Amino acid sequence: MPWLNLCLFLLEAVVYFSVMTAFLHFRRALGLGVFLAALGVMHFMETYLAAVFYVELPFGTVSPGSSVFFAGKLMMILLLYIKEDAATVRQPIYGLLLGNLLTVGLAQILQAHSAVALPGGRSADMGFLDEMGWLMVWGTSILYLDSIGIILLYERLGRWMERNIVLRFAISGAVMLTFDQVAFYTVLRILLDAPISVLFGGWYAKMLAVLIYSVLFAVYLRLDQTRTWFNPTREIRDIFNDLTFRERYQALLAKAGVDSLTGVFNRGRFEADAPDLIRECFGKGRAVSMLIIDADHFKQINDQFGHQRGDTVLKELAECLGSGARAGDHLSRFGGEEFVLLMCGTDHDDAIQRAEQLRNDISQRVLRPEGQGLTVSIGVATGPEDGRTLDVLLGRADERLYHAKNSGRDSVYGRLGRFVADDRLAG
Ligand code: GH3
Ligand code: MG
Ligand code: MG
Repeated sequence: MPWLNLCLFLLEAVVYFSVMTAFLHFRRALGLGVFLAALGVMHFMETYLAAVFYVELPFGTVSPGSSVFFAGKLMMILLLYIKEDAATVRQPIYGLLLGNLLTVGLAQILQAHSAVALPGGRSADMGFLDEMGWLMVWGTSILYLDSIGIILLYERLGRWMERNIVLRFAISGAVMLTFDQVAFYTVLRILLDAPISVLFGGWYAKMLAVLIYSVLFAVYLRLDQTRTWFNPTREIRDIFNDLTFRERYQALLAKAGVDSLTGVFNRGRFEADAPDLIRECFGKGRAVSMLIIDADHFKQINDQFGHQRGDTVLKELAECLGSGARAGDHLSRFGGEEFVLLMCGTDHDDAIQRAEQLRNDISQRVLRPEGQGLTVSIGVATGPEDGRTLDVLLGRADERLYHAKNSGRDSVYGRLGRFVADDRLAG
């Protein structure tokens, strides 16, 4: 018997996931309301089953209500988030919570009726409706926490395994449903005196459900990517379809020309803006200087301390470069650990001074993970003497950066070669 139950359990999960995912997938054609209403209707059944319907599985006694349908709903909420965004996800969550409060409120009023006796002695069980109502309110309150948790966790995991969406889906589901099982059981225990075996049986079943849903999710992604019949409206399906909110946000930043790691302009924006800035500046008869700043031995930081520490240093470097910004400056991240500062109205001597100041500030304010100050090499070029176009100025600055690197790094190179401060000469 437990094995038959297990087969039915699997069947329920497959039917639930396939139908709900189909509603979500074809939401452009059907309207998202279909998916959301179905999710809401299932909520009543799942709570009802969790309260009164338990079956024997090979690993314990469980209710399909909480294990198949509740787990399914949470995974659907995560799927909705992956497909849409946080603003959309909060609609069913708030809707369920408010709808349940409404149910409880109305149940109170309904109890004040004196109902007509029905033939056969049938009568409404108002006490049960009331109890169900409160159970649903509690269920959705936990769902609210579960949903926030599962989304945050899914996002967090993205840092380590950005592309492995299925694994992220599975891990976040397993963690949040464990939390959920403990919370929901606590109330089942208080209200209905559920035995402890319900806690563990339910937990196994939820983990099994997550496993099934993750496999089905992988199948769905595969279908979504490989079958054209699955996507009849390919035009509508934009490239962000399987990206998450944060990834969309980053894409948006990139579109706006902002580098998402450091917050300074990105290379695309620099290449779009710089020619006009340079022309405008020359038009006013002013000089234009360009600094290319490249961190020394940056690769070592990544190699020894990991990419994340490297990223932190990069952020601090960008912050330091931007902190002394003046009107007419345009700072951008040109490549990995290479920044360009374009300065309108700054002649070569001033630009060299600025570069030297930055080199000093960085070595004092930006620390490598081992505690030493970060050193940078800077190439400086100034137009119109070094050139009048972006390409020529960049080329000159880059040549000088190359010289700075070759002559021992940690230095500023301009038209006259390596800059040497007066005090150093004296020393
Ligand atoms: P050099 O003094 O010659 O410039 O040495 P370097 O190690 O800095 O050499 P290079 O400029 O060739 O290497 C740049 C390194 O910067 C390569 C890569 O590991 C690292 N890098 C590039 N982009 C990023 C990034 O976004 N984050 C992190 N953490 N590291 C990056
Ligand atoms: Mg470097
Ligand atoms: Mg470099």
